Amino acid sequence: MKRVTKMEVVLASSNRGKIKEFQKILSDVGMNITPQEEFFVQSADETGLAFVENAILKARHASLQTKLPAIADDSGLQVDFLKGAPGIYSARFAGDKASDEENNNYLLERLTKVPKSLRTARYQAVIVFLKDYADPKPIICEAHWEGHIATDHQGEGGFGYDPLFIPLGQTLSAAEMRIDEKNKVSHRGRALSKLVDYLANSQSMSC
Ligand code: IMP
Repeated sequence: MKRVTKMEVVLASSNRGKIKEFQKILSDVGMNITPQEEFFVQSADETGLAFVENAILKARHASLQTKLPAIADDSGLQVDFLKGAPGIYSARFAGDKASDEENNNYLLERLTKVPKSLRTARYQAVIVFLKDYADPKPIICEAHWEGHIATDHQGEGGFGYDPLFIPLGQTLSAAEMRIDEKNKVSHRGRALSKLVDYLANSQSMSC
């Protein structure tokens, strides 16, 4: 029987929540995903001003250090009332080393007394795949997930802003969804599905 070797890919993220979601989605598609910390790669400085710039920076950094193909995602929450903030600064909204809980509490504070109709928001994800460090044609896939910001924490699952994010047309928060349910509809899940389809179809389609 012919043995199929899985493609070894480094995942340029140290975010536990993201790593779990990536591994769940990519485990069945012939990729062996290893988080960068297992190669002792430190997080890259996110100096870009757009999700796509940061995603490319992270992927190049991990690929350079490991000599492997790399996948990175840069993602965040855009709140309409806050003119798109926290956006690319989502992980550090309440300060450089802020925890998820501190970011969530700060978001609730910024939206005090703002009515539901003005609490609309979306998650954005940009996923980048590089064949190698110097790959001149990164594959870039994007998706977003619409919803609104709750007035209090709901649920224990997920990560980041999930306890405050109510997907459009739902009453449960993203933190109350099972990981496989979230992956089917989320920004990251759908951007990653596009990447998987793109790679499987030998780049005969656009991402
Ligand atoms: P990054 O590592 O710079 O891409 O930071 C992304 C940040 O955006 C995370 O730390 C979270 O605060 C937020 N974020 C992105 N995707 C999600 C998600 O699926 N759920 C909850 N928060 C998210």
